[in-house]
Amino acid sequence: MNRTVAFIGLGHMGGPMAANLSRAGHRVLGHDLIPAAVRAAAGTGVEPAASVTGAVAVADVVISMLPAGKHVLGLYGGILADARPGTLFIDCSTIDVADARTAHERAVAAGMRALDAPVSGGVVGAEAATLTFMAGGGDHEFTEARPLLEAMGRKVVHCGGPGAGQAAKICNNMILGVSMIAVSEAFVLAESLGLSPQALYDVASTASGQCWALSVNCPVPGPVPTSPANHDYRPGFAASLMAKDLGLAANAVHEGGVHAELGLRAAELYAAYAERVGDSEDFSGIVRTVRERSGEEA
Ligand code: NAD
Repeated sequence: MNRTVAFIGLGHMGGPMAANLSRAGHRVLGHDLIPAAVRAAAGTGVEPAASVTGAVAVADVVISMLPAGKHVLGLYGGILADARPGTLFIDCSTIDVADARTAHERAVAAGMRALDAPVSGGVVGAEAATLTFMAGGGDHEFTEARPLLEAMGRKVVHCGGPGAGQAAKICNNMILGVSMIAVSEAFVLAESLGLSPQALYDVASTASGQCWALSVNCPVPGPVPTSPANHDYRPGFAASLMAKDLGLAANAVHEGGVHAELGLRAAELYAAYAERVGDSEDFSGIVRTVRERSGEEA
């Protein structure tokens, strides 16, 4: 069934996601604060919305893809009153679990329905419609959202109630951040022991050290030709985004009183690293920080 979708936030991720929805036959009314983003989307079949409230008023579904929780809550505050009762609000941004739950509550209080559905897969996945969606909300909302999410992604997982999608996203990325640091430290240790990166890779990638950070996004040049390390650490998944996600994980760790020493330390290390490199480097470039610091400590 073709739907009318108001798509808000046409940036690196939202632009290609909206284009894929339009390609799948849905009517997509696009809005962004940056006019150039709206113009770029218009070239992919997305109709520029004359106003965000006008688009929301005629939409069956409102999808947002914004930088952070404050943007999502701000947006909802400005548009919930304009939507038709029962409109489905799907937020695909990566935001705090607490903010996701607040957004859900506000949508429901205004007579709407809501789902959090953050993604992994990056800009490449957004362009190729191969994203993974992690959804939180009710069964009906998930069932209704599913065909839309499948038009933008390859895998769609219903993780539980409101906020469960965001919870899955930050838990996964906490594993990834910690494991990338562990893999980076192991490669630098190998260097100091005279063990070649290829030898460590050949053993660990088929042994108990195997993980995505090693076998797909290997932080040293050589063993995995497609990893950013072979392309001067061009992202990939930018250091700034990893720092953001680990910051969200750290918030949840503190709020839940969870003992997560490595997760919190990874958040600190990535915050410091991202302050230097921002979004110019893939998060696997943290291996260079490990190497530089090792030189200082030798
Ligand atoms: P981006 O900065 O490229 O895009 C965000 C867009 O939102 C911008 O164009 C901005 O102008 C617009 N915007 C902000 N407030 C708005 C408002 N009130 N109304 C309309 N437009 C508004 O960011 P992105 O890389 O597309 O990321 C979007 C979200 O996806 C973030 O939450 C990010 O953490 C998450 N994410 C990004 C990646 C990635 O690889 N880039 C991967 C997974 C998840």
